[in-house]
Amino acid sequence: MTRVLVVGAAGRMGESLLRGIAASSDLSLGAALEHAAHARLGSELAPGVKLTSDPRAACAQADVAIDFSSPASTLALLDAAEARGLPVVIGTTGIDATGDARIARAAKRLAIVRAANFSIGITLLLELVAEAARRLEGYEVDVLELHHDQKVDAPSGTALALARAAAGTRGQELQEVAVYAREGQTGKRDPRAIGLQSLRLGDSIGEHTVYFAGAGERIELAHRALSRENFTAGALRAARWLAGRAPGLYAMRDVLA
Ligand code: NAD
Repeated sequence: MTRVLVVGAAGRMGESLLRGIAASSDLSLGAALEHAAHARLGSELAPGVKLTSDPRAACAQADVAIDFSSPASTLALLDAAEARGLPVVIGTTGIDATGDARIARAAKRLAIVRAANFSIGITLLLELVAEAARRLEGYEVDVLELHHDQKVDAPSGTALALARAAAGTRGQELQEVAVYAREGQTGKRDPRAIGLQSLRLGDSIGEHTVYFAGAGERIELAHRALSRENFTAGALRAARWLAGRAPGLYAMRDVLA
């Protein structure tokens, strides 16, 4: 049995992970972490496992951590995980460049799988977008994403990853060509630009479309998440894959390979 620490255990992804762990035969809930003001702290989520806000105590009860919470709690988790050499699966998005550097530093001592999207479909879509960007030279690229109204970061981590996949193939740094808003007298489109647009409404779990437009045609590569099960299955698969893995920063494509 691999004991899993779920970080953000009372959240949408946290609850889905708890269901996935309860249904599995080789994983058990080792610990469950929430923020210090959470109303359900102390409640029992599995036999003998109470919701806690103490990262160090939680890490001591686990063989691997799965984190779908907030950028600040991801970084706090890394401090505690490093102290125990605990492997970590990071699904939290909206982490800034300082956080990226902290994760890279932690990966020198810990095995970490980080993905903006743990679904198999998006992992494939990232490859398809890179391939399309290679073959459709000179085409204009924009990314559109739609998420539920509770999402707190924009553009989604997945939209950024898709845009980065296209930019990387075209030899561009995304931050130099990204356009996050168009309003007023914008002037004509810069042919090198990659636009990212975000919609926030209703309860959509996540939809992404990458557009490639050339003279007289447009190609659309799209993915729609219909439930959180695909993220959950991918994150649990990554957690199993991490067991005994050497320190390093891994991606979902490494897990699926
Ligand atoms: P959510 O708001 O429903 O859940 C987040 C949970 O984290 C909440 O219960 C919150 O109380 C908890 N939390 C906040 N601070 C904490 C702390 N200091 N310690 C422990 N827990 C804390 O959000 P969600 O929809 O479950 O998404 C969570 C994150 O995962 C977001 O960043 C989201 O973008 C990302 N996400 C990633 C994927 C993926 O495949 N990588 C898929 C879905 C969501």
